[in-house]
This record gives sequence, structure tokens and C-alpha cells, in this order.
Amino acid sequence: MPPTNTYDDNTARAAGYLSRFSLNPTGHFIAGEWVTEGNQNTFTNLNPATNQPLGEVVAGTPGDMDRACEAAKEAFPAWAAMPGATRKQCLHHFADLIEDRADEIALVESSDCGQAIRFMKQAAIRGAANFRFFADKAPEARNGQSLFQADHTNFTMRSPIGPVGIITPWNTPFMLATWKIAPALAAGCTVVHKPAELSPLSASLLAEISAEAGIPPGVWNTVQGYGETVGRRLCEHPAIKAVALVGETSTGSQILRQGADTIKRVHLELGGKNPVIVFDDADYERALDAVIFMIFSLNGQRCTSSSRLLIQNSIRDRFLNDVRQRVEALVVGPPLDPATEVGPLIHQGHLEKVMHYMRAAVEDGATVAAGGHRRDDLGSGNYVSPTLFIDAHNKMRIAQEEIFGPVLTAIGFDTEEEAIALANDTNFGLAGYIWTGDTGRAMRLAQHIEAGMLWVNSENNRNLPSPFGGMKMSGMGRDGGDYSFDFYMETKNVCIAHDTHSIPVLGH
Ligand code: NAD
Repeated sequence: MPPTNTYDDNTARAAGYLSRFSLNPTGHFIAGEWVTEGNQNTFTNLNPATNQPLGEVVAGTPGDMDRACEAAKEAFPAWAAMPGATRKQCLHHFADLIEDRADEIALVESSDCGQAIRFMKQAAIRGAANFRFFADKAPEARNGQSLFQADHTNFTMRSPIGPVGIITPWNTPFMLATWKIAPALAAGCTVVHKPAELSPLSASLLAEISAEAGIPPGVWNTVQGYGETVGRRLCEHPAIKAVALVGETSTGSQILRQGADTIKRVHLELGGKNPVIVFDDADYERALDAVIFMIFSLNGQRCTSSSRLLIQNSIRDRFLNDVRQRVEALVVGPPLDPATEVGPLIHQGHLEKVMHYMRAAVEDGATVAAGGHRRDDLGSGNYVSPTLFIDAHNKMRIAQEEIFGPVLTAIGFDTEEEAIALANDTNFGLAGYIWTGDTGRAMRLAQHIEAGMLWVNSENNRNLPSPFGGMKMSGMGRDGGDYSFDFYMETKNVCIAHDTHSIPVLGH
């Protein structure tokens, strides 16, 4: 990774990396071949910072998806049979290549999805870390348990489930794709990846790296295009044994329906309306830093963003005043500028959705303490001012619905019981953050808050062996460490008699 660069350096280097995407349509990668030719329909991929085209993308057809699924099916037996130690080497090589191209990946990703370059550099490195972590686990993926009885011994063994579909969203596409695909490959599954149509470019880099890393043809396939066409077909295809989605809750419902006829195993990582609860005995400054970071980093387009601030009334006015000052001081700008903290939203439709909530907040009786408007002064990109709503209550739309933008809704509370009730008063259950100096209270909240992941006095630290996922409408299933292998593998139980038990005798 080159040393920190200026905005101009980044822009020039990004233009170099992006030129290929403007010259030729971004296509599919199926059975080791690029598919860009023929009578393919394309759609235009826009730069969120300017709304100017970055290039054309091939809009896959169900036929393209069928070919990818068949390729994954054909490649499966050999990949599954490869020793884990060999897969480990291959995936480490993959990680090396990501690190070699981290600068390119970060600049392309930042240009494509509008996330600030300061975060996308980390995301590229984290992508490599995902591969290394699961590479090291590949040799033990098949391991099982030994379960004894008086007259029998049971043991379990795992085997890769088969070809799998991975469907990813637009918010941090590179990191999320590696997070899902690395464990699938380590387990011995072959993959068909359907990236989001709004940020397709880094998926294409990943497919390219897969070939460079020596992943055999058909083990990694990428099909570009729309969810309703190629995404749907991926869920319906009989060769695909499991589908992992990261996306909206409504998409999760569709995936369940689409996979029903073929009894697809499904893993859903969906939306959230995550509370950050700050008590008056918390480390004030650290809580303040974390509250700001967890909603305004990544433009608030983050599933684990702490979009609801539950603040104890005894410190509410002082804390919210400090939050407001920090929100007003956030640097909004082009994603490639190293100074930028909040970049443009992914596309115009999403900007309109976020602006809808600015209006809904006022209609429902909340007060806009900071922001609340577009940033037209930054040009034709999808810029919105970081926003703080106060005087809110938990029944308002801004407290119940996922906005997925740099928008924080603050709600006061008095007691621990009230904080728990507010935290749980949502259809979602992905993440929660607890700030208190009282360990007993932290433990009580950890027990009662309905969320798949809780952080106490921290801001979304990730530990790759730990389970990642949500409850309620935030999804089903867990990623991370061995949890990922549970999804991508079948578990078989083998029961062996010690020849000491009596067998019931019939017909004698
Ligand atoms: P989305 O659901 O619109 O799209 C996600 C993916 O699903 C895209 O690739 C899309 O093309 C595909 N898709 C859409 N309809 C489909 C269908 N009928 N069949 C198959 N595939 C289909 O989500 P998005 O707008 O791209 O991403 C934002 C959402 O993702 C937010 O709700 C966010 O919370 C969620 N998200 C969750 C996590 C998590 O770990 N829980 C992480 C990141 C993002």
C-alpha cells in the first residue's frame, strides 16, 4: 500500500484503475472464462460522487446463471476432494494477491460505492485477513465430534454441502464478498457469486484474483446483474445447495420463497435498527467517540450502525450537545479525498429514501438538531449532511425503520428497565452497544437485549472466530469461525455399536 496520498494522487490513480471498466463492459466470470461478448444487455454503473458513468455492466440472464451453476456443479467433486492443506495454500495465495492489489481494490471500491477511502483501505486489508483466517481453518473443516454412549460410540463428520450461491449488497461489497466466499471455499464448496448491481466492480477484481490464485475453473463464478433475474435464478437452481444473502430484510423473505421448492439451506444477514445505550456512569469521551463512529463511518450505510442513541436523561442535554457539535464538524466530501469522513450515498434512489426520512422525522414531531438536508454545494453527487434528530420517541418512523444513511435518532431514558424495553422495541435484532461503568448492569443488559451481537464499551470490534448475525427480522444463521462451516457443510453422524447391547428380536 503506498503512503497516504493526496486527493489529487488518489483521483489520478483511481482513473488509471477505472479506465478498463469504462472501455469494456464488466462481465461475468463463468467456468474460468470472461463473458462480455454476444448479444448481452448492459446497464450503466454510476459514480456516486458525480452520477457520471463509470462504465457498462453486463445484465446477466437466467441462462447465464444456469451456466454458472452448472460450472460450479461440475467443479465441485474435485474441489471438495482436494486436501484441506492444499486449499489452505491456495487461499493464502489469494490473500497475498489481495494485499498486492489493495491500493487498486480500495480506489476502485471507493469510486464505485462512494465510501470514504480511509475506510476502504482497511476493508481491502480485512478482505485478505478473511481469506487467511479461513485458509488456516481449511485443514480442520471436516473435523467432527466424538459422542459416547454405554453401548455405542457416535462420531460426526462434515463434508462440503455442494455448490453454493453468495448474494452480496452494495455497501461494502469487497469485504462482504470475501467474508462469505472465503469460508465456502475453505469448506470445499464451489461458489456462484451474485454481486450487487449498484457496486459491481470489486467483484470483478475478485474473480480475476481467483484465476491468478490458481483456483480451478468453475470453483469461483461471478454473474453480474439484477436480483430479480439472476439472483432469483440462483436461488431456484437445483444444483445450488445453499444460498447466503447479505441484504435487506424484504430480500431475505424473497430468497426464502425462491429457495423453497428446492429446499435451499439459507443464511440471511439482513437489516438492523441497532441501539447504542449510554448510561451516565459510562466513560463519557469514549462513548461519545464510539457513538459518532458507529453511525457516521461508512456513510451510515452499515448493517451494524448504531442508528438509535438511547441516552440516559441525567446526561442527555450535555451529551446531545456534544454529539451535535461533532456531527456538524464531520467532513463530508468526495470519497477519494483522504480528509473525507462521510462520502456520497450509493445512488440517487437511496438519497431520496434518506431524504424521505428527513421529512418523516419532522412530520412525526422530532427536531432536526444538525443536518437534515442535501449537500448540493458538493456538486451532482448523492451528498447528504450528517444528521441528528432529537426530541424523538421510539414509535417514530426514524426510530423503527432502517434508514441506512448518516442519520442518528436520539431518545432519552431514565432507568435500566426502560433502556432494555426501548432497545427491544423494534422488529430488528442485529446488534447493540452498551456503555456503562457498571459491570453487573452490562451483564444484565447483555442477557435481556434481543440482538445477535452486543458490544460493551466498544464499537464493533470484530473477532473472526466469534459468531456474526442477527435475530428477529435481522436474519438467521451465523458467520465466523466454525459457525461458517456449519452453514457450508453437512454434518453426518456415524453410530458404531460395541456389540454389547441387546437387539430387540421380532418374528422369532
Ligand atoms: P438488497 O437486499 O437490495 O440487495 C442485496 C443483494 O440481493 C443484491 O445483490 C441484489 O441484487 C440481490 N437481490 C435483490 N432481490 C433479489 C431476489 N429477489 N433474489 C435474489 N437476489 C436478490 O440490499 P442492498 O440495498 O444491496 O444492501 C443494503 C441492505 O443490506 C441493508 O438492509 C443492510 O442492513 C443490509 N446489510 C446487512 C448486513 C449484515 O451483516 N446483517 C451487512 C451489510 C448490509
